[in-house]
Amino acid sequence: MDLLDLKGVGPKKKELLNKLDINSISDLYNYYPNSFEDRRNKAICSKANIGVKYYFQWIITSKAKLIRTKNGLITYLYAKEENSLDKIKIIWFNDRFSASKLIVGKTYKFYTKIDYENGIYLAYNPMFAELDDESIGSIIPVYGLTAGLNQKNISNFINEALDYYDKSEEIFDKLLLDRFNLESKYDNLLEVHKPTSKEKLLKAKSQLKILDFTKELIFLDCLNKEYNYKDDINLIYNLDEILEKIPFELTRSQLIALKEILEDANDSKLMNRLLIGDVGSGKTIIAIIVMIVFAINSYQSAMMVPTEVLAIQQFEKNREFVESFGLKLELLTGSSKNKDKVKNDLLNGKIDIVIGTHALIQDDVKYKNLKLVINDEQQRFGVFQRQDLALKAKKVNYLSMTATPIPRTLSLKIAKILDLSMITELPKGRKPINTKVISISLEKLLVEKLKENIKVGRQIYIVTNNINSCDNNSLENLFKRYKEYFKNFTVKKLHGEMKAADKEKTLKDFSDGKIDILISTTVIEVGIDIKNANTMVIYNAINFGLSTLHQLRGRVGRGNYESFCYLVSNDTNKNSKLNILVNSQDGFEIARKDYDLRGGGKILSSIQHGRNLDQIEYLTMTKKEIDKSFEILDFTKKTNYENVNLSEIEKFFDEDKRIILN
Ligand code: ADP
Ligand code: MG
Repeated sequence: MDLLDLKGVGPKKKELLNKLDINSISDLYNYYPNSFEDRRNKAICSKANIGVKYYFQWIITSKAKLIRTKNGLITYLYAKEENSLDKIKIIWFNDRFSASKLIVGKTYKFYTKIDYENGIYLAYNPMFAELDDESIGSIIPVYGLTAGLNQKNISNFINEALDYYDKSEEIFDKLLLDRFNLESKYDNLLEVHKPTSKEKLLKAKSQLKILDFTKELIFLDCLNKEYNYKDDINLIYNLDEILEKIPFELTRSQLIALKEILEDANDSKLMNRLLIGDVGSGKTIIAIIVMIVFAINSYQSAMMVPTEVLAIQQFEKNREFVESFGLKLELLTGSSKNKDKVKNDLLNGKIDIVIGTHALIQDDVKYKNLKLVINDEQQRFGVFQRQDLALKAKKVNYLSMTATPIPRTLSLKIAKILDLSMITELPKGRKPINTKVISISLEKLLVEKLKENIKVGRQIYIVTNNINSCDNNSLENLFKRYKEYFKNFTVKKLHGEMKAADKEKTLKDFSDGKIDILISTTVIEVGIDIKNANTMVIYNAINFGLSTLHQLRGRVGRGNYESFCYLVSNDTNKNSKLNILVNSQDGFEIARKDYDLRGGGKILSSIQHGRNLDQIEYLTMTKKEIDKSFEILDFTKKTNYENVNLSEIEKFFDEDKRIILN
């Protein structure tokens, strides 16, 4: 059955649903609401508080009248309540249709705030419905939308889709559900899409999380069992000798992670590991050391990063270090000039380690003896790109790295099924980054601050969200303005649309301290590491997600200098989401709050869409829910999955099953 088979879904609506990642009937009923609105609070005008929304029942007493004003069209009519003489005037601005749907003498449900003036109650552009319509008077799910689809559309589609619920999605049998005091997935879905009470709704939401999460856990568990990709590698190395050459001491958790990775790599099983650490925790050096160990043992490694700018920088920064072991490091991006030579040298084995972008997974890139692939900023890549990287060689060890946080309670448990290493601290001596929200009207003051900072030798990033628009704070306009402000200093720009050679030169010059101010787009969001740059100014800050802002801020505070982050915005009030950054430097806490603001879409959706585990979704799970999920997992394992519909889980197994994991 196809989406098109539903009433009201034509090609246009189908396309819109696809935009929301809804591609099947099952996707529809698995599309969880972001939030709920309780529209049960019923009132009569005389008891209602002004400014609060209530559910009313009003009888229409007059026909609609229409007035044209210089500000537009006004339509109004009168209504009353049963057994009351109070007069209610209902007014619509620029909406000539709503009033015409209301029939004199008939009673309707309204959901609206009211006002009171000169003895008359007033309601403006109220939501209304027929008496038998449940969209008023009950708890209403609120779904994530896209332009062209409204709540009513989605809600109708979902209700119809529920009639075609695929029973094979019930992964646990009745026995197991009863044992753990759970309702079926279907019953929970019904409650979430058509809530009957707050208590039941909360319970259903929680149970769906447990059901979905447990499904993921069982999937991972099966995967681990199936997966016995043998490896005959035997890495010989002297870690102390390598560590001696690093200009700093690894933190305790870096060292633990490094050892875990090396042990895992040396194990008789192919490695498939995820390294998690907040921005600036020092993941790169771990990756480089592991690649050096492989290279010393004559195995090639490839590290894929999401942007060219980052590839260039990691290459530049690590070349000398790698070469000091007599090894060859190369760079490969879409616009490398020496592409053919690099490809040749990868094939004949002259290159030991290659750092690059998506260019690394092109068909014509072949390796002599590739044994390790690393995916930096893993969350930036799709499953298929990661898979392509891992399939570049027959037996390849895989390490992915990310700053995406997972709650500690979960990571400890999930580490038992998923190979996971965590860097849990920042290098010593890091000071918190002074973060301030400032209004654009204070730009002159900001400029003075920046000047002082440059005069003592530091450098500055300025970031904005668009390159060339009429926006006063577009990259081009900022560039013009800052060139004026900083006549005696070097101001340069950097963005994705520049030629690769120019990008490379600009980044190198900035890194070498030849540029004082770099005005950039988010191409510098991830990875970039320049210690002398201690100030990040973000224009149009309110237009970025909190996690992006946290990443951007993570570009500074990497050396021993006191560092600053200025979030320029017109919204400087205390409740602005930007204040979350002012008050926290903790990636996990910020992600958690970001999630609260954005609301959740689906709770977990990785398997269904072949996506990676989207850790953000775990952020809303309570310890109790996590514990219960693991309890169920343990039980099903013990009973050899007797109560589990494994075929539903196996459906999602892919050709190379390992990469989906992380
Ligand atoms: P991320 O985890 O965000 O990728 P990076 O690997 O870019 O972080 O590291 C951030 C900076 O900290 C780099 O300049 C790196 O050289 C430095 N660094 C890494 N580990 C340490 C350490 N143990 N002590 C001091 N500096 C470190
Ligand atoms: Mg990094």
